[in-house]
Amino acid sequence: MTNAKTMIKVDHISKYFGPLKALNDVSLELHKGEIVVLIGPSGSGKSTLIRAINGLEKPEEGKIYIEDQLYDPKNKKYAAQRMKMGFVFQHFNLFPNKTVLENLTLAQIRVLKRSEVTASEIAMKYLKRVGLDDKASQYPNKLSGGQKQRVAIARSLCMNPEIMLFDEPTSALDPEMVEEVLEVMQDLGKEGMTMIIVTHEMGFARTVADRVIFLENGSIVEENTAEAFFDHPASDRAKLFLSKVM
Ligand code: ADP
Ligand code: MG
Repeated sequence: MTNAKTMIKVDHISKYFGPLKALNDVSLELHKGEIVVLIGPSGSGKSTLIRAINGLEKPEEGKIYIEDQLYDPKNKKYAAQRMKMGFVFQHFNLFPNKTVLENLTLAQIRVLKRSEVTASEIAMKYLKRVGLDDKASQYPNKLSGGQKQRVAIARSLCMNPEIMLFDEPTSALDPEMVEEVLEVMQDLGKEGMTMIIVTHEMGFARTVADRVIFLENGSIVEENTAEAFFDHPASDRAKLFLSKVM
């Protein structure tokens, strides 16, 4: 895996919210095809880190590189770099007044300048892939939470991302709908998608992650293969955390 191309490099970033240091000197690398799971207690900085990687938060210190190029809004490559990343949130963020199909074609047409026909074909391909091609003409409020999240993932995939970022994609779902979303994510991983996933689903993390990064108070406390992390957590903080969640 370490021979694969470096997709993301986070180089000693720190992020403050007023006096609070939400990220404290965080560094990581993500290689092509790799799946990294971020875990840690609530407030440990997981969302801030994944949002910083996507450009939604601006770290005051440190640098981020996307495919070896500095990721900075002042850089003219910034928009293109940003397009390489798909972001799936806890709360789907679907447009309620648009059909499922329109949710999937909108950015393709506006941002990628695809024709409506092409955008629709691509949308249907990804809807099929998440098992929801029969819902194309429905409005989001007719869908279950699990279906909404699968639509959100399909919408992201329509933009041809090279990296997918997930911030607690199943945390807002009823328990019986978690599995269908995790399955879609697991399939993506099998197809070689590069992913960073924030999740509290430890069984999933163990099965799917190549690496686990454990955060606390804005710092990376531990980073290891999923197997090593779950079988032999090194730090007391990780041991305590795992004893509570597993
Ligand atoms: P996690 O996702 O691990 O639960 P977050 O990254 O959301 O943690 O938050 C890390 C810390 O930063 C928390 O103390 C949180 O309250 C704080 N924080 C996050 N976003 C903001 C914000 N926009 N303004 C002020 N504080 C924030
Ligand atoms: Mg969070």
